[in-house]
Amino acid sequence: MASAPVRVRFCPSPTGNPHVGLVRTALFNWAYARHTGGSLVLRIEDTDAARDSEESYVQLLDALRWLGLDWDEGPEVGGPHAPYRQSQRMDLYRDVAEKLQAAGHAYRCYCTTEELDARRDAARAAGRPSGYDGHCRDLSAEQRAAYEAEGRGSIVRFRMPDEPITFTDLVRGELTFTPENVPDYGIVRANGAPLYTLVNPVDDALMGITHVLRGEDLLSSTPRQVALYQALIELDLASEVPSFGHLPYVMGEGNKKLSKRDPQSSLNLYRERGFLPEGLLNYLSLLGWSLSADRDIFSMDEMVAAFDIADVNGNPARFDLKKAEAINADHIRMLDPKAFADACAPWLKAPHAPWAPENFDPAAFDALAPLAQTRVTVLSDITANVDFLFLDEPVEDEASWAKAMKPGADALLTTARAKIAEAEWTAGSLKNAVLAAGEEHGLKLGKAQAPVRVATTGRTVGLPLFESLELLGRDRTLARIDAALAKLGA
Ligand code: GLU
Ligand code: ZN
Repeated sequence: MASAPVRVRFCPSPTGNPHVGLVRTALFNWAYARHTGGSLVLRIEDTDAARDSEESYVQLLDALRWLGLDWDEGPEVGGPHAPYRQSQRMDLYRDVAEKLQAAGHAYRCYCTTEELDARRDAARAAGRPSGYDGHCRDLSAEQRAAYEAEGRGSIVRFRMPDEPITFTDLVRGELTFTPENVPDYGIVRANGAPLYTLVNPVDDALMGITHVLRGEDLLSSTPRQVALYQALIELDLASEVPSFGHLPYVMGEGNKKLSKRDPQSSLNLYRERGFLPEGLLNYLSLLGWSLSADRDIFSMDEMVAAFDIADVNGNPARFDLKKAEAINADHIRMLDPKAFADACAPWLKAPHAPWAPENFDPAAFDALAPLAQTRVTVLSDITANVDFLFLDEPVEDEASWAKAMKPGADALLTTARAKIAEAEWTAGSLKNAVLAAGEEHGLKLGKAQAPVRVATTGRTVGLPLFESLELLGRDRTLARIDAALAKLGA
């Protein structure tokens, strides 16, 4: 039997800034759609007007575009199930809620918060299950009328079946939830607003979603959704319960769940630091999946070719910033030189670059770029690596100065200046000049070049010094050494 084409969805709520957990979910859904030749639906779950924002919606789409995670149906793309923003689908939900009530799958619950709380506390005290107790499940028409007459508000509750719910999680295997653990739950607020518990599975059904891949934090809502799905099938509003796969938790510092509020989890941070999308995605793919035991670095094409939900590991994954950086650095090295220069471009101008725009010299940058490419971890590192070329004066870095300009530095610099002034202007001759100066003062090259580096670039670390000086040119190099000597009082 040929199975139906895979249809997965990514359905974020537009609240706050996009975070890495969200990106991991989007990535796994995208990779599964691409691997199977299926479709990825992007749906915006914006039914909570108090928390959702247009700004967050715009950021989400922008983030997905930047990452290269394209969708086949959804906002800006359209599709047969439009609209794809839940705020524009309210009539549909109202209609489904009516049908569920008419068929007895849902009912009006008139309990007040105080009543619910009091009964829950009593149940707890007696050691009974403390979820909703089914008080309004089978109200008679008279009882309902009496509550209405009292002017009580009511929510709509879904009636859970009396049998256990079992499903096979694609990551965790077979799971069973007993009725005591999954009480009847609200699907429409007293003010008529439909809740996530309703709109999410209803849209999955109406949009023909075959696989629900999402974070483990949503596992507890799955038995409810399976039951709701079964009701929708009975009403001919759905055809089949989708498969569910819950992606493992991502743990941050101190082995605590990485939270949205964790600064490390903000996608914007990675963009602003100059992660490559493919570097970040490569890292995030490892949070619960791997290409093979001995390969951490791969392209998205390679991930797509290999990705299967069955290979996702259910154990919590640890978010490791250092590893993310190392993987990104590897992706930077893999760029061809032109692509690297292009990727650097935004960091070579305001507001990132500290130099006057007219000082920027593309030819000098292109000459240094290959040296920088093997050294930067994130693209924003490029600025500090090349600023000595484009600033009128080298940066003033107190720590570097203190480290390199120890007693004796002035004598070394004086000798080095004289030799540099006479050297042929090539990296090789410049190196010999500093080497010779060092010998006169009993210093190895590393020690001898430190004051020269700080005098000319402002920093103790940077690109290979003699190639840098070759580009900086004789006049500027000597002028900077002179300025350092003056500062040293020599
Ligand atoms: N809008 C929900 C969320 O962002 C979607 C959850 C789901 O994937 O079912 O948490
Ligand atoms: Zn009730």
